[in-house]
Amino acid sequence: MSNTGNTVTVEVPNIGDFRDVEIIEVLVSVGDTVQKEAPLLTLETDKAALDIPCPRDGSVEEVLIKGGDTISQGDPIMVLSVGGADNPPPPKPQQSPRQQPRAAVTDETPLAAAETTQPAAAGGTQSAADPGQADLNAEVVVLGSGPGGYTAAFRAADLGRQVVLIERYQKIGGVCLNVGCIPSKTLLHTAQIITEVAAMSDQGVVFAAPKIDLAKLAKHKNRVTDKLTGGLGVLAKQRKVKIITGVGKITSPRTIEVTSGDNTTTIRFEHLIIAAGSQAVRLPGLPNDDPRLMDSTAALELAAIPPRLLIIGGGIIGLEMAAVYHALGAKITVVELSPELIPGCDRDLVRPLEKRIRAAYENICTATRVTAVKAVKAGLKVSFSGETAPAADTFDRVLVAVGRRPNGADIGAQAAGVRVDEHGFIPVDNAQQTNVERIFAIGDITGPPMLAHKATHEGKVAAEVISGMKTRFDARAIPSVAYTDPEVAWMGLTEARAKADKIEYHKGVFPWAASGRALSVDRAEGMTKLLFDKRDGRLLGAGVVGVNAGELIAETVLALEMGANAEDIGLSIHPHPTLSESVNFAAEAAAGTITDLYLPKK
Ligand code: FAD
Repeated sequence: MSNTGNTVTVEVPNIGDFRDVEIIEVLVSVGDTVQKEAPLLTLETDKAALDIPCPRDGSVEEVLIKGGDTISQGDPIMVLSVGGADNPPPPKPQQSPRQQPRAAVTDETPLAAAETTQPAAAGGTQSAADPGQADLNAEVVVLGSGPGGYTAAFRAADLGRQVVLIERYQKIGGVCLNVGCIPSKTLLHTAQIITEVAAMSDQGVVFAAPKIDLAKLAKHKNRVTDKLTGGLGVLAKQRKVKIITGVGKITSPRTIEVTSGDNTTTIRFEHLIIAAGSQAVRLPGLPNDDPRLMDSTAALELAAIPPRLLIIGGGIIGLEMAAVYHALGAKITVVELSPELIPGCDRDLVRPLEKRIRAAYENICTATRVTAVKAVKAGLKVSFSGETAPAADTFDRVLVAVGRRPNGADIGAQAAGVRVDEHGFIPVDNAQQTNVERIFAIGDITGPPMLAHKATHEGKVAAEVISGMKTRFDARAIPSVAYTDPEVAWMGLTEARAKADKIEYHKGVFPWAASGRALSVDRAEGMTKLLFDKRDGRLLGAGVVGVNAGELIAETVLALEMGANAEDIGLSIHPHPTLSESVNFAAEAAAGTITDLYLPKK
């Protein structure tokens, strides 16, 4: 930066080894008032995007560069008017106290912050276990940028904390945005359209068979996820959350190291939130290096539509992927170890789904174990055991969807004394606090249900507790949804659990065969069920099977949280004709006031 009277010329600061770096965006214009540290422009290096921060307060008098120009250290970029003689001279550029290389700094990371060691956060204490000087200090470090991690980071930043978010992948958003909820729901939407269009022939409207351009479909799915992950990057930037790309490893109760290639950054934290999530379980003894054996991440890449696909695992993820590949033209076999599909969900809710997919798929084998998978030239030869197990068969591809395991054992938790159980979960209390003071954990890594909305809720709790609020995790119900066709959704107490625990309940059921809306969309196989406490009449649990069940279940969660009873729900006027009326009618069935069904008096 060079000074001339009331103006200073801002130059490109030290940007490491980068030369002739392209400007992707100039973030200010002539006349703008800018504050010290505000980003002036964004550069694109071959490793990451970087923001150039403003060195001091002022207003932009002249912009000397434009988007698309290439610049190097020392090049003039703009002239700032910095007022009169009252203005103090610009601060000397601060040198990093340790000249070791850093982990990659992404576009959400103000450069100056990455190069400067910040003073310890307010109230910070040097731990006895502190190994020495760090490259960065942060009030809150969040390890993992999935729905739990980014929510915790953003909430903590909104509450005034200085936050660093660590993510090993360039794209933030975790499993949910990149290889989970969002890409799977994008493809399920395509599957739904294909299925619905084919079903129109029953109504006398016949469309031609679909032509599927798999590469284009995969590109569409990637565009959706890129839009969301890009949006998260903007939200992080707006909140000044620093994102550091690299693999994080806890090294003491106060420090974490982030490694990216040969570069390592040590961060000293006041509080740590572990949000490192989970990964797909791999079955041992299978040809795991054969690309024809897929996990859900590989299946979402849509490399090919196999003529015959075996899905090992009849849980939510397995059945959702079955719906996608079936609509795209694969013949599907599902094999499930337990006697039922979607274990944990009431049988009456799964039945309409099971009936539909048994008719559509090549085979569904419950209570069946896969005993071997052998790679042969023609495909993957799979052997089964179980009373009704099929004979060994060869499939073009096999998807393993037998659950997910937490990443608790892979993050150096022991260096901080954080307890990790034998499965890799990190136990927490209702403040999301681990057994170590100031270290919190959220999301999949803390235990089931492994769901994005549980992770985000826990992320907010942790961020608020760290910020001195008295928040606790006390949600009474976490809804689960299988986005299958039909969808299956449930929350709170299940009937199976009520029976096992001898909880006395009163049930209201509305079969969708009596729903005008369900009939008009030709999907009358659904059902809505509400369970009320026999003692005080309050809603205890609910289940819905049918199209859009995932949307309908939300009302029942609200009703349960508000302590609603059957009259409360039944007397709330629902719009007609909608599927939401089924919740209203199920409540009326429980209250004995329903007129859309005839229920003889008991
Ligand atoms: P994750 O999303 O797993 O994120 C953890 C992040 O931490 C990852 O980005 C990971 O790279 C990073 N990380 C881990 N270790 C390190 C390290 N050492 N250093 C740096 N970074 C690290 N849930 C739903 O609620 N609805 C759905 O419809 C749904 N569909 C799904 C479909 C599929 C195919 C899959 C696989 C999952 C689905 N889920 C769904 C589950 C949901 O994705 C997870 O529950 C959710 O992502 C968990 O969030 P999280 O923040 O705990 O962790």
